Amino acid sequence: MNRAFLAALLLSAAPAVAQQSIAKLPPPVVADPRVERLRDDALANDHYAWDIVEALTTEVGQRLAATEAEARARDWAVKRLTAMGFANVHVEPFTMPVWTRGAESAEIVAPFPQKLAITALGYSGSTGPEGITGQIVYFPTVDALRAAPDSAVAGKIVFIDHHMMPAQDGSGYGQFGAPRRQGPTIASLKGAIGIVIRSIGTDHHRNPHTGVQYFTDGAKPIPAGALSVPDSEQLIRILARKQPVTMHLTLVSQKSEGGHSGNVIAEVPGRDPTAPVLLVGGHLDSWDLATGAIDDGAGVAITTAAARHIMDAGRPLRTIRIVWFGAEEPGGFGGAAYAKAHGKEPHAIAGESDFGADRVWRFSSQLKTSDPAAYAQLAASLAPLGITRNDKGDADGTDVEPTIAAGAPWISLNQDGTRYFDWHHTPDDTLDKIDPVQLRQNVAAWTAMLAVLSGGIESGAKQPKRR
Ligand SMILES: [Zn+2]
Repeated sequence: MNRAFLAALLLSAAPAVAQQSIAKLPPPVVADPRVERLRDDALANDHYAWDIVEALTTEVGQRLAATEAEARARDWAVKRLTAMGFANVHVEPFTMPVWTRGAESAEIVAPFPQKLAITALGYSGSTGPEGITGQIVYFPTVDALRAAPDSAVAGKIVFIDHHMMPAQDGSGYGQFGAPRRQGPTIASLKGAIGIVIRSIGTDHHRNPHTGVQYFTDGAKPIPAGALSVPDSEQLIRILARKQPVTMHLTLVSQKSEGGHSGNVIAEVPGRDPTAPVLLVGGHLDSWDLATGAIDDGAGVAITTAAARHIMDAGRPLRTIRIVWFGAEEPGGFGGAAYAKAHGKEPHAIAGESDFGADRVWRFSSQLKTSDPAAYAQLAASLAPLGITRNDKGDADGTDVEPTIAAGAPWISLNQDGTRYFDWHHTPDDTLDKIDPVQLRQNVAAWTAMLAVLSGGIESGAKQPKRR
């Protein structure tokens, strides 16, 4: 049927119903034109975010937590944030264990000798430079390993598979990350001499994906590594030949206590210093395999650029506090340190960008129930960027979760994660993966969010433009 004809038929059949349903709609919410101007300017013209992430990844490079590289990144950040005109720029230091990677390799000794691409997981035990040799025992899932008798595992090298697929909301990471998070502890408790997992990733490149794991429940550290996805599939084909498979595994690493890290903090001071602050940020540290462009150079760049756009427009009522958290990757140390120092201070919102640099596609916030008018303004201001409201969403962001647990209201601006796990924690997390157009959309979204929640921006107090 012709669609126009169908519409006419429906209207003529039920005009009263159509009228009535429109009348029952909630009153229209129109975005504040001042917010729209800031949002659209950021969308069209932002260069702050690209400038930050380009310079951070080029001038500092990888930034492994609690190492000399992360310390250089903090010095760099203080200089950068100061030069951008932010106030109260400072470092809040903390101590933590430091784990660093040494030589790493894996090879099949028998039945078909060949090398496989591998990288150590965080806090992996060390094989020592001589490596270890053992028979591979295969498990399709972490639950299959858990169900196996110790006798099937003891003295062997465990291999765990999984079937993570790309998803816009990145939801596979929770379930399919279990081989990395729990596998090493379970394997150790059952007497394995080592463990290799299929990388928690969605690509088919020979790049293994690292990531953190901890040995819990009294498990002694054993060597724990991730094979790239193609190498895992190769290993599965070799195992399918039904002959014993022997691997020689070298994963050298060092762990020591008393490492130094810290959070870098900067502010756009509000007109009312007693008003609850708007906390935004990302994490400054990265894994050591690449320059951490999408994880999480982009996140600190996006949120800082948004704060700078507010500063360019004038002075907000509420203080905007930007935090470049330290040491997220090895276990959220910076987020815990921030909450310990500031969790009891009043926060108007807490939000983190830590899921790459692709466009924001939906948002959710506790303000839906605690401040419905602000939530409606956010929805109206974000919709022109293609961002839908997710009324059932959750708080998001390792670094802000402890502060949210201490009572801060949360907001999540969810980025499209379809490509994220192709590069996450691999040597491929580099600047070229960032699409400048999508990066600007992120900045526009965070700028709109800050503008809506700023309490009003007084343009008389405009800051000087500085690049
Ligand atoms: Zn991250």
